[in-house]
Amino acid sequence: MPSFDYDLFVIGAGSGGVRAARLASTLAKKRVAIAEEQEIGGTCVIRGCVPKKLLVYGSEFALAFKDAERFGWSVTSTCFDWVTLRNEVQKEVARLSGIYQQNLLKAGVDVFESRATLVDRNTVRLLSTGSTYSAKHILIATGSRTLVPSMTPGYELGIASSDAFQLAKLPESIVIVGGGYIACEFASIFNGLGVHTTLVCRSDRVLRGFDRDVREQLQSDLQRLGISVVSEAVVESVRPLVGGRRKIAVSNGTSLEADHLLWAIGRRPNTEGLGLDHVGVTLRDKAVVVDDFSRTNISSISAIGDVTDRLNLTPVAIREATAFVATELLNKPSAFDHSEVASAVFSQPAVGAVGLTEEEARAKGHRLKIFSTKFLPMKHVVAGNEQRVLMKLIVDAGDDRVLGVHIVGAEAPELIQLAAIAVKARLQKSQWDLTCAVHPTAAEELVLLSEPTLSDAVA
Ligand code: FAD
Repeated sequence: MPSFDYDLFVIGAGSGGVRAARLASTLAKKRVAIAEEQEIGGTCVIRGCVPKKLLVYGSEFALAFKDAERFGWSVTSTCFDWVTLRNEVQKEVARLSGIYQQNLLKAGVDVFESRATLVDRNTVRLLSTGSTYSAKHILIATGSRTLVPSMTPGYELGIASSDAFQLAKLPESIVIVGGGYIACEFASIFNGLGVHTTLVCRSDRVLRGFDRDVREQLQSDLQRLGISVVSEAVVESVRPLVGGRRKIAVSNGTSLEADHLLWAIGRRPNTEGLGLDHVGVTLRDKAVVVDDFSRTNISSISAIGDVTDRLNLTPVAIREATAFVATELLNKPSAFDHSEVASAVFSQPAVGAVGLTEEEARAKGHRLKIFSTKFLPMKHVVAGNEQRVLMKLIVDAGDDRVLGVHIVGAEAPELIQLAAIAVKARLQKSQWDLTCAVHPTAAEELVLLSEPTLSDAVA
């Protein structure tokens, strides 16, 4: 039996890597090391979910001030200071990163603040010192980074979402390129903070992959709230203008000018320069290929999280980490089930979705009953706010199972977490109907949808 410096060496201290390292040390009682080239905490804590959500909170006040008037409040003059918000967000990010670091140390994990690469199937090299360490298992948890269109002239004049958290001052105008959740969220943040915001997206509607009704509703809401959406278009070139502004040529023949251009066209797995090719780990489109147990084709090497490009969400990376530790270190083979994972878009209005879209359900051959409603919540009626809530249930017309739930509206991310329990538990629509409403709420509509808006004939 060869002896190793560590039982487990984790590369990348983000959502997945930190969870795996801590569990391996505390639960499986293994000797564990972790290497991180930036701040401990990874994308979610440092430049993703956490700072983004805090900016979302900050940007929501503008509409709240407006809604307050009909409730009797006179909000006569308001003034927003970007530097205050930015610094408070960074303070919280630093606090959380410190907690993550402390938790690793408390768990007895050796933490190396360094980039790490693979030397061979059981050896890791730290770039900061050149030292090498052997490990029985190596876990690749290096995450992903913003994809930039490097063939587009002037692409380097654009910024990534990670840069947006650090801006020295709030721009007057911004062009955001992309139609996915990160693009929609940043468009809502900047628009809410009073920045003239344009979204350029390749598809005809934002949020490709979400239910068609959700995509239509969100796009029209973004536009109603003042975001200019240029759809079915791509950026052809970016040029600098005096004063640091950008001139952006768009494929529909128009050109835009803005203080900043933000690329949000996708993410790319962090596999470059890791030594994976040298060791012989199979990659597909830059992502590490793994089986259901997060194992690569090399028996001592596993991979979890965004670097595997399965379902790129923090809770998923954490579940994959837990399953990895159970499988490899506790001798309890466990595969995380990637189906029916709920997701949220923290745009204004927000989106929550779980399970199949109507299009996916039809493509799988289901005959459907669709229960859909669009309504003005009580608060918005009084406030004179035109924002409607959309709720849509996709139900199998044969066995009555609720296959998917899709919500657009302020509380959608909170609601979808609970709806996900029912979808995951494979509950039938009749069981939703048995559930008594909570009144007065917007959520009660979910259990009061009695008549289908569309019903396929069942063979
Ligand atoms: P990461 O958290 O990215 O961690 C990987 C770590 O590895 C990084 O710290 C990196 O520095 C380090 N690393 C890379 N290479 C090396 C190396 N060679 N040596 C040492 N260290 C290395 N998900 C949600 O669930 N909800 C959200 O609301 C949400 N919002 C998001 C908003 C934005 C703007 C972004 C960009 C992402 C968001 N995500 C969200 C996605 C979420 O952040 C990721 O899915 C999650 O962080 C993936 O975890 P991970 O462990 O795979 O990688």
